[in-house]
Amino acid sequence: MSDYKESLETSIIVASTRGDSEIKTGSVNVPIYLSSTFHQESFDDFGPYDYSRSGNPTRDALEKTIAELEGGTRGLAFASGIAAISSAFMLLSSGDHIVITEDVYGGTFRFVTEVLPRFGIEHSFADFTNVEAIASAMQSNTKLIYIETPSNPCLGITDINAVVELAKSNACLTFLDNTFMTPLYQRPLDLGIDIVLHSATKFLSGHSDIIAGLAVTKDEELGKRLAFIQNSFGAILGAQDSFSLIQGIKTLNVRFEKSAQSARKIAIYLNGHDLVENVYFPGLSTHPGYETHNKQSSSAGAVLSFCLPNRSTAKAFVENVKIPVFAVSLGGVESILSHPAQMSHAAMPKSERDKRGITDGLLRFSVGLENVNDLIADFEQALEIASRQKEIVSI
Ligand SMILES: *Cc1c(COP(=O)(O)O)cnc(C)c1O
Repeated sequence: MSDYKESLETSIIVASTRGDSEIKTGSVNVPIYLSSTFHQESFDDFGPYDYSRSGNPTRDALEKTIAELEGGTRGLAFASGIAAISSAFMLLSSGDHIVITEDVYGGTFRFVTEVLPRFGIEHSFADFTNVEAIASAMQSNTKLIYIETPSNPCLGITDINAVVELAKSNACLTFLDNTFMTPLYQRPLDLGIDIVLHSATKFLSGHSDIIAGLAVTKDEELGKRLAFIQNSFGAILGAQDSFSLIQGIKTLNVRFEKSAQSARKIAIYLNGHDLVENVYFPGLSTHPGYETHNKQSSSAGAVLSFCLPNRSTAKAFVENVKIPVFAVSLGGVESILSHPAQMSHAAMPKSERDKRGITDGLLRFSVGLENVNDLIADFEQALEIASRQKEIVSI
């Protein structure tokens, strides 16, 4: 029995209440500690909590949970995914340089291109599906390689092992945005990544009800440095939202597994449809990153993108599909359809978008928990109307 290792499925249920030993109420849920400050019983010896920006028992339970799930030593919870990401960038100093994926999330793009340069932190973008391109973007002052895999919205795949090797030989840090996979399907710290980042707004919370971010480190010293920034910068997650996120994480496995199964069926369905020009999903063997993704992740996840011929067919599809929500964001129990060219990537010039495959006909689909046959039937009728639209346009 001694080599028994608890599975992640069990950890996501029990991790948050492991720390109840100090309180010993036996509560199956972590209490929501709505207290900004904590009474210190002794004049000289302060207890574990003094002020909730620096530490709150509910947030602590969440931070311990994500650290455990990612196989790290320190987890930190932030007010949003972007708060986690920008706080992690604060580990850098003026004069440092970042090599970052050109397919990075829009908010990260904005922080790196519009905020960090004012503090003397420069960057180079590279095509992260190509390790040589990353290597040739490195400079003598590169202190960080920033990865997002799978990336948004075309699900580009970066070889994590290759980047870690490159970073180690250049003595620089690696951050990885693990939002699309969660620790259930991809464990970057095990592969040597220094900091794992999440928009917990998405699959981890899963109910489209909160905005939250998480960061995890394996190295304790790095964890301390990031905790110092969390406290100094102050973009912490509140106790109520920490509680909601703990509850969301408990059902991550059942939600994500079902959504991922449905995503696979929908990707196969779309791939065989005449009107669909391209399907981006790392679970299809035709996807350029298929083999690399399979090597480093245990599922293709529940987000896919597909390309209709043009803007008017995409518009007809969106206007006629009945089940999904048409919105930004992803990872909810409800399926979410979005139009990257006008939503997440609207700030990018059209020429840049087209280069990256983000055409006016591209749609991104985050698969929820509805019956997959209902979703496919809904797509079928909307694609039928979109096909007629295409004929009208071509006449
Ligand atoms: C949504 C998202 C973010 C930003 O997270 P917020 O919680 O919205 O601040 C970062 N990275 C990825 C991949 C995302 O999808």
